[in-house]
Amino acid sequence: MRVGVLKGNGIGPEITAATQHVLEATGLPLEWVDIAIADEAIAAHGHPLPPETVKQLSDVKLSIKAPLIVNKLQGRISCVQTDGTSQTYPSLNNAIRRELRLFVNPRPIRGFPGISGRHEKLDVIIMREVTEDVYIGHEHQIGDDIAAEAIKLTTRAAATKVAKYSFDYARKHGRKRVTCLHKANVLNFTDGLFLRCFQEVSRDYPEIEADDMMIDAACYTIVRDPLRFDVIVASNQYGDIFSDLAAGLVGSLGLAPGANIGDNASTFEASHGAAPDIAGKGIANPLAFILSGAELLDAANQPKEAKAVRDAVRNVVEAKTALTPDLGGSGTTDSLAAAVAVEVKNLL
Ligand code: NAD
Repeated sequence: MRVGVLKGNGIGPEITAATQHVLEATGLPLEWVDIAIADEAIAAHGHPLPPETVKQLSDVKLSIKAPLIVNKLQGRISCVQTDGTSQTYPSLNNAIRRELRLFVNPRPIRGFPGISGRHEKLDVIIMREVTEDVYIGHEHQIGDDIAAEAIKLTTRAAATKVAKYSFDYARKHGRKRVTCLHKANVLNFTDGLFLRCFQEVSRDYPEIEADDMMIDAACYTIVRDPLRFDVIVASNQYGDIFSDLAAGLVGSLGLAPGANIGDNASTFEASHGAAPDIAGKGIANPLAFILSGAELLDAANQPKEAKAVRDAVRNVVEAKTALTPDLGGSGTTDSLAAAVAVEVKNLL
């Protein structure tokens, strides 16, 4: 089974090695395909996301992707299209998603007994639309440091697609409710369209409860009443912020996995960033990336191994033996991954 590997930077290489170690413990015949990105790709091809990288990611279809340091000073990323024109993107992550047509970033957030306090029963999945909204990065300055404005884009096609994906997911996984987050009372056109598409799609899923909530009220509600939510669908920026909030509630960004799903290719990545403040220290929590690896195994139709990885993470976290400092332990990235790998072998 060929799996692409983007090692990223910051803590990326450390948590990548840890994740590969755990996925190999499943005994599946994994063939890792290293794919150059960012500095490595600049050195090899003169571009942080060259066509060679996009092609490799499409060919392997499933890849693990570690976080990348995204520096605004790097400027926009310009990618040549098949018709010879160029498309520019505000960041490398944004460029990967849009070049590969990855349209949804599911972020499952689950509490852990003994770690997540009053949020240990939290079990939500946030479906974040990732192709549009303000993150298309169409912004500009007006005058000399006087003002700046950005475009917020919502299309019927993208809003309908992410809503449909969310309801299909709910149906397939026995989830009971899908909630749309928005601010349609203020943003009548953009968020209004996002909400309308959600409501239209919901009619095809009568067995699933469909409701909506203002994004600000939703932030308050998930803190006060964590069991209120089940599946959540949100536009790009709201989904980005809301999922970090939810990760904080269960105890650490290091417990929040994610994926970027497209029709033809998908990348699997933790919700967190490259954590340059702890890079190279060997103390990064690899669990979010390992859990993202479990999502990849599900996508590769390996549910038994995916479940073993998830259960192993849960058992190790509950045992509290090898936890990294963000979870209150004194373990290292490697010792935590080793403990999970042993548990995976025990479970299979
Ligand atoms: P961050 O998520 O990297 O870090 C926020 C805080 O959480 C830091 O204190 C960090 O040490 C901690 N943290 C994050 N992951 C951790 C882990 N696995 N284990 C233990 N602690 C962890 O967010 P940031 O500091 O805002 O961003 C750093 C860089 O990462 C920026 O360049 C940003 O653009 C980039 N970033 C990349 C991605 C991505 O590639 N998907 C996502 C978000 C941010």
